[in-house]
Amino acid sequence: MGFVRNLGDAGVEVVLEGTQDSISRFIKQLQTDRPPTSTIHQVDTTYPPETGEFKEFQIIKSNESRVHAGSVIPPDIAICDNCLRELRDKRDRRYDYFFITCTDCGPRYTIIDALPYDRPRTTMREFEMCEKCLGEYKDPRNRRFHAQTVACAECGPLVTLLTKEGRPVDSTDPVRAAGRLLERGAVLAVKGNGGFHLASSTLLTEAIVRLRKTKFRLQKPLAVMAKDLEAVKSFAEVTPAEAELMTSYVRPIVLLRKRSDFDLSEQIAPGLHNVGVMLPYTGLHSMLFDDTRERAFVMTSANPPEEPIIKDNDEALARLKDIVDYFLVHDRKISQRCDDSVVRSFGDTTTLLRRSRGYAPAPISVAVPKNACTLGVGGELNVTSCLIYQGRAYMTQHIGDVETLQTFEFQKEATRHLLMLTGCKPEAVGRDLHPLFSTTKFAEELAQESDIRVVAVQHHYAHVAALMAEHDVEEIAAICCDGYGYGDDGSAWGGEIIFADQTGYKRVGHLEPQPMIGGDLATKYPLRMVAGILRDNAEITNWLLERHGYFPHGREEVNMILRQPSAGKVPLTTSCGRVLDAVSAILGLCYERTYEGEPAMKLESAALGGKDSLNLKPVARDGVIRTTNMVHEIFSNLWRVTLRDLAYSAQSYMARSLSETAIATATELGVKSIGFTGGVAYNEQITRTLKTAVEEEGLRFLVHVSVPPGDGGISFGQAVVAAQHS
Ligand SMILES: [Zn+2]
Ligand SMILES: [Zn+2]
Repeated sequence: MGFVRNLGDAGVEVVLEGTQDSISRFIKQLQTDRPPTSTIHQVDTTYPPETGEFKEFQIIKSNESRVHAGSVIPPDIAICDNCLRELRDKRDRRYDYFFITCTDCGPRYTIIDALPYDRPRTTMREFEMCEKCLGEYKDPRNRRFHAQTVACAECGPLVTLLTKEGRPVDSTDPVRAAGRLLERGAVLAVKGNGGFHLASSTLLTEAIVRLRKTKFRLQKPLAVMAKDLEAVKSFAEVTPAEAELMTSYVRPIVLLRKRSDFDLSEQIAPGLHNVGVMLPYTGLHSMLFDDTRERAFVMTSANPPEEPIIKDNDEALARLKDIVDYFLVHDRKISQRCDDSVVRSFGDTTTLLRRSRGYAPAPISVAVPKNACTLGVGGELNVTSCLIYQGRAYMTQHIGDVETLQTFEFQKEATRHLLMLTGCKPEAVGRDLHPLFSTTKFAEELAQESDIRVVAVQHHYAHVAALMAEHDVEEIAAICCDGYGYGDDGSAWGGEIIFADQTGYKRVGHLEPQPMIGGDLATKYPLRMVAGILRDNAEITNWLLERHGYFPHGREEVNMILRQPSAGKVPLTTSCGRVLDAVSAILGLCYERTYEGEPAMKLESAALGGKDSLNLKPVARDGVIRTTNMVHEIFSNLWRVTLRDLAYSAQSYMARSLSETAIATATELGVKSIGFTGGVAYNEQITRTLKTAVEEEGLRFLVHVSVPPGDGGISFGQAVVAAQHS
């Protein structure tokens, strides 16, 4: 006999009286028979003397006094099978109730205002339970016993279909009516657990084009939500590992390979071999499909360019009214906005592209000094914040590119919310080396408010430190490749070989510095990278002139551009991303970047099924890996070799030359692990080639498992470095 109660930190306290034997058995069963979505981070046991005061086993009121540092805040959990069954069961009380949930499922992080996690401290407090719901809530034998989100059509949130002017549409079944509208070509804003989605048909190109215009995303791939796994298989290939991810309680967007007979609109993911697909994660999403023949709907975050996902009804109505045809809204407030997570599975690893709904802010174990409490605030793109305390890392949801005031405010708010929930007071904050990033400013602000030290962490070292902490390795030779990071010397880095141990790091190699003609313009227009790299090639002037529209002033402009690097007026970059961009432009895959990673992603797609027909020999000297030679070869073989093989050969060269230098470094220094990190680690061919080369040498190949290899993982690495220096 005894009791169980929530502690302030989302942990629980169980007090038991009984024989030693039965208590031991209970502790064992706690591990084996726990609910599917629960996580046991730690079990602390004490054996005080018996009091005989307990007559029965009860759940008692939360102990609010014990909101102590290091809390565990649960992430949102997708609708469970039991709830899905009840949703469809005409005899069930919650038949057709779009927000059906139980102890095993439903929103958590997005509705929690404060801890302990009890209804009055969530946005569910506005909905008083009806007698029946309360009965279930109080009944220990019921699946909804102490489920904080319990509700029904009588007492819970309600859903309404609105015209774009905000007038209610007369409908007894607004969700299914919304599905029918989508099927007929309407664009809808649909409110879910963590924010608004923009939704449309996946077959009617005209609707998708309209939706795209509203997002100012002319090319960027759009995620889709499919009815079920069978529907997914009709347009994409699904491996068992991917099916498991898709149906897990996280229910992320999984990047799947398009089937060769892909028959959804090409407007969904133009020029790419894969498509981001998720399954319904609330009753509402599931019901959208009921009255339609659609296998999938476009379901993309409703956010104005460079701004966070919209979460409030008023804001949605004000900002989306000229964009959508209808709104499907409900009346529960969203406490924390949260985008969908995005993952990719290849080989035996799952790579996180965006760690958000379903993951955040569940803690990740991290190998740092246990007493350290530190924060990382990220870089500039794909920002997250990360708090480390007692060997656990709590990362915020995806924040986005902190380039606008709105996103910056979102980051501050989400970070402070995390600090409030965990009750942690960091002693140090890790920030990027870049002096002008908003996140740098944020770190300085935090330092001024309270006594927090600021630790400036070089971008690529943050990536490498994250990888080391995830795998608990003492030293590593790491390949760190991405688009841009502010280097120790102030120049643009992004193709680095880094040796790191517990004391710090050393840049032992890098890609050949290449000119970025026009600075940032070379990122937007990869033809400028081509011009910079191939400026001495006899054919280049005419070739560039043939790219109509990109050099409106003709020969004069091209000649001026080509002369700039030798005049020494051009910034240099060792970025791997920029070299891949140049190859993508040479192959005609992308002349203008409309979203981050576009040229390199299209290059990867073009290389699918290709072979390394050029088999170029890596050229490196004193740790500088040449890339000009490779780009010349791609250019001069344009008419002889297939586009697919050229794309493959270019990626192969990058992977082989990087691994060669990294392996030489590891051998020389006696290091046993080689890591791969940075946004280029999303590239499957490059990752596989590196892995094979490294493992052939008998070395360990390490990639990220719990944090994104891209800039979403930077805050984690910064917090790690700050913890090591505390
Ligand atoms: Zn459930
Ligand atoms: Zn009810």
